[in-house]
This record gives sequence, structure tokens and C-alpha cells, in this order.
Amino acid sequence: MIVRCGVFYDGTLEKPRENVDLRIENGTVATIGPAEGDYDLSAACVTPGLVNAHAHFELNATNDTVAEITGTTLSQRMLICVENARKALRAGVTTVRDVGCSGSLSIDLRDAVDSGRVEGPRIRAAGSALCMTGGHGHWIGREVDNPWEARKAVREQLAKGADCIKLIATGGVLTKGAVPGQPQLSEEEMHAAIVEARTHGMRVAAHAIGTEGIKNALRAGVTSIEHGHLLDDEAIGLFKERGAYLVPTLSAPACIIDHASDGGQPEFVVRKAVALGEILAGNIRKAWRAGVKLAGGSDAGTPFNFHEEYVRELELMCRQLGMSPQEALHAATAVAGELVGAGTGTLTPGAPADALLLTRDVAGGVQALREPQTVIKAGAIAFAR
Ligand SMILES: [Zn+2]
Repeated sequence: MIVRCGVFYDGTLEKPRENVDLRIENGTVATIGPAEGDYDLSAACVTPGLVNAHAHFELNATNDTVAEITGTTLSQRMLICVENARKALRAGVTTVRDVGCSGSLSIDLRDAVDSGRVEGPRIRAAGSALCMTGGHGHWIGREVDNPWEARKAVREQLAKGADCIKLIATGGVLTKGAVPGQPQLSEEEMHAAIVEARTHGMRVAAHAIGTEGIKNALRAGVTSIEHGHLLDDEAIGLFKERGAYLVPTLSAPACIIDHASDGGQPEFVVRKAVALGEILAGNIRKAWRAGVKLAGGSDAGTPFNFHEEYVRELELMCRQLGMSPQEALHAATAVAGELVGAGTGTLTPGAPADALLLTRDVAGGVQALREPQTVIKAGAIAFAR
């Protein structure tokens, strides 16, 4: 397949190329070169498929997440997973890391997509998140209370077929009584889980909003901090020293705040999101400017944060952090791809051919990524408008 590209972004921060042909063979990028000969498809702008490094397929962006989980069966939620996988792919998200589900939903979804039975992005799944007893997300998590239990829980996720591990280092917004600023799993528990995960080649992500919890997780050796909203200068130093990624999930609080008065959300959810919303942009911007690697991830599935609305995360990166459209695209393709580890996120020879064909140049605004004209996954047309 040959795609003629008006403007071509490979996912890096290199200057985009103009009037080149993207040649795809056997599902991977063969060459990117000067325009010549016949082509199969053409577009004003071509980018890599988007990579969402933080999503929960099982969550359907309803106003009350915990009520949604407790009020539905596992099989009903699997159907939601299937629906959300299709919506994400059609919106141009070709790789997703699911960082926490009930049982093995996201793992089974991954296998169904891989075998072609279900339409969806490439998926890397964490299985159930490890949390302390009664901790944030315990309603879909695996509760652990000492280092050996943490190791055992990692082995359980591995046995289910998980690709990576998710830890809960602090309280969170959606769980009643869980204070975002307070640490939850200890550094010792997280370190044990990470050593076990590394033994099996698994990367580890930590949900961490509060300052101490972020630093505990970084010292314990996580690959990425999810949210990271209350980071401080010492945390920025640790990020850089350890080479850890930051997935700021700007959409999660923004979507809750947008529906603060009309969404019918629990009062404690709105209150916690509003408090974080007032300070997080400044902290995340500071980390990014200091050179911390920012990877795109939206926390899709949380209230009013739809799986097909990942472009909102890029819009927030531009608006709240001051990124250029290409920098936001880079965070949501190459950097997120590097973190997720599916080999996607950049369009370079040999890489999987996951690409979006757009009607406008991204340079004019990341809104150009909304409703891609054609979504290519593994060299085949996955969806066309
Ligand atoms: Zn999450």
C-alpha cells in the first residue's frame, strides 16, 4: 500500500516532511520517500496512530464510576469493553494501555482483538491494580498489605496474562475516603512488586497524585507515574534521575470539573477534582519544562471522559501546558508508544504501520486529529469515513 502524504509526521519532533509517499509492506512501514508513481490513498496530513497510555476499557465514562461497577455484572462490563475498544480505534487510537480492570477483562479483550474476533486497538493490559486494603480503586483492585503479598499479586496478574503491572501509591478522586494527597502502598511494598515484575520483564505504572506517594513510587523504581499532579522539585529530580515517565491524565479532572454542576456526580468526586484542578497545570508544566518525559494518557472511562475523545488530552496539553501541536502529538505517539512498549508510536522503516489520514495539517491545531478520514492499523484500513 502506498499513501501519498501532503504533510507527514513520524511522531518525533523532527520537522514534518512534505509531499512524501508512505509505503507499507506486510503490516510495517517499508519506506518513506519522495513522491513517485501510483498511490492507493492520499491525505493532506498523515500521523502515527495515537497511543493512549492510560485507559480503563471497562469504565464507560458515566457520572458515578463506583455505582457503575457495583451495579453491573462482569459480563455486562465485558460488552462495554468491546464497545469502547471499537470506539477508540475508530477515533484514531491504535494502541492502548489498560491500567486496571476487574478480573482479566482487559487481558481477554486484548486476546479477542489480537485474534480478530473484536475490533479494537493494540492493547497492553495490567490486569487488576494492586492497592492497599480499602485503598483507592479497591472496588476493582487486588488488595495487598505486605511485600510478599505484593509479589504474589504480581504473579497472579502474570498468570492471567498481564503485560504490565499497576500499583496504587496514593489516594484518588473516585474512591470515597481515599485522600489523593496521602500515600497508600508503601515504598517497601511497591519495591517488592517492582522487583517481581522486572523478573518477568513487566513494566510498572503507579497511580500517584500526592507528593510523598509520587516520590515513594519513583524511589521504588516505577516506569511511569500516572497523574503526578502534586509533584514537587524533588520529585522532578527523581523523575529525571530514574528516567521515569509522567502520564498527567489532564482529561480526568477536567472532565469532572466541566460537569461539576450538571453531571450528577458524587459530591466528594467533584470536590477532590476541583482542588487538584487549581494546581495541577502549574506542576505538570514545570516538570515538562524541566525535561521530564511526558506521555499521553487520558484515564478514559472516568466520568465524562470518553474512550473516543482522546484528542481532548492533546488539546489540554496545548492549552494547559503550552505545548505546540507537534509536541502534544509527540507525547501521544512516540513517547507514549515508548512507554507502552508495543513498538508503535513512530512511523519509521520497520515499525508497525499504524497511521491516521487527516484532512488538515496538525500544525493548525490538534483538533485536526478528531475524526480521522482513515485509520490504518498494521498496514490495513481499520476504519474509513
Ligand atoms: Zn486510571
